Amino acid sequence: ESTPSRDGKRILLAAPRGYCAGVDRAVDAVEKALELYGAPVYVRKEIVHNKFVVETLSKRGAIFVSEADEVPEGARVVFSAHGVSPAVHAQAAARNLATIDATCPLVTKVHKEAVRFAGDEYDILLIGHDGHEEVEGTHGEAPDHIQVVNGPHEVDKVEVRDPDKVIWLSQTTLSVDETMQTVRRLRERFPNLQDPPSDDICYATQNRQVAVKEFAPDSDVVIVVGSANSSNSVRLVEVALDAGAGASYRVDTSDEIDPAWLEGATTVGLTSGASVPEILVREVIDRLKELGFTGVEEVRTATEDILFSLPKNLRADLKAAG
Ligand code: SF4
Repeated sequence: ESTPSRDGKRILLAAPRGYCAGVDRAVDAVEKALELYGAPVYVRKEIVHNKFVVETLSKRGAIFVSEADEVPEGARVVFSAHGVSPAVHAQAAARNLATIDATCPLVTKVHKEAVRFAGDEYDILLIGHDGHEEVEGTHGEAPDHIQVVNGPHEVDKVEVRDPDKVIWLSQTTLSVDETMQTVRRLRERFPNLQDPPSDDICYATQNRQVAVKEFAPDSDVVIVVGSANSSNSVRLVEVALDAGAGASYRVDTSDEIDPAWLEGATTVGLTSGASVPEILVREVIDRLKELGFTGVEEVRTATEDILFSLPKNLRADLKAAG
């Protein structure tokens, strides 16, 4: 997409941006569950890390809880895209909950790697952010074998049983470049450190970072639409700055844009995290146009066609209901 600028002030619009296949599936799962079973449908944690999405689903009858033990006995609960540990599955089973597991298949892949390498008695160094739901879920698969490494600064404190039997895995939504720095530091300490069988940082995270890097050097300001607790959105701000953007800001919605950020700017780069609906980006474009950035040029670095089917039991119920 592209529209010419009236006076040279323009928006460079990243493509790909916004929803990934895992988020699309998770949000769709809650919507379909509400349609099929009726409200309320409980959701453990934010289904995806986006304020607008959570508010919209709440209005439609989703009830967000922090833990499965807050869900009434026997009720229906959706697990979020970030995944859950086996302990949470056990908790849900103990309360007879009907579960719909909207864990992204690319997170499940990392869980499976963790289980497999823990079974082979590896020390697993999980690069990721302590306290993030995805990290909690993956860590819970094999707590005795997994240590979380938050970044290069934590490499020195890592201790392993056998330096020849160490593998790193990672959260799916990290900065690729920072993760590689951490891995390089880890490899200095453990030269036989094994790589994951395939990339754990997912295609969507990688593609959104590549797109931002492409236009950041030409951007006076890069605006990232996304929520504060969205790891991949926050990473996009860091990646933009590292790649040479003059400044970079994250906003949840268009009304958070401070016109002072744009004083003297002629080019604004714009992208959105993997949990962000396109409507929020459209509203930011409209706001930027009001502020004089009338030209829009799309900068495309990849095309995505990945789709994940709905969780199996939900699919079966939908089919049975015709
Ligand atoms: Fe899955 Fe990646 Fe989207 Fe997370 S960001 S839900 S891992 S596709």
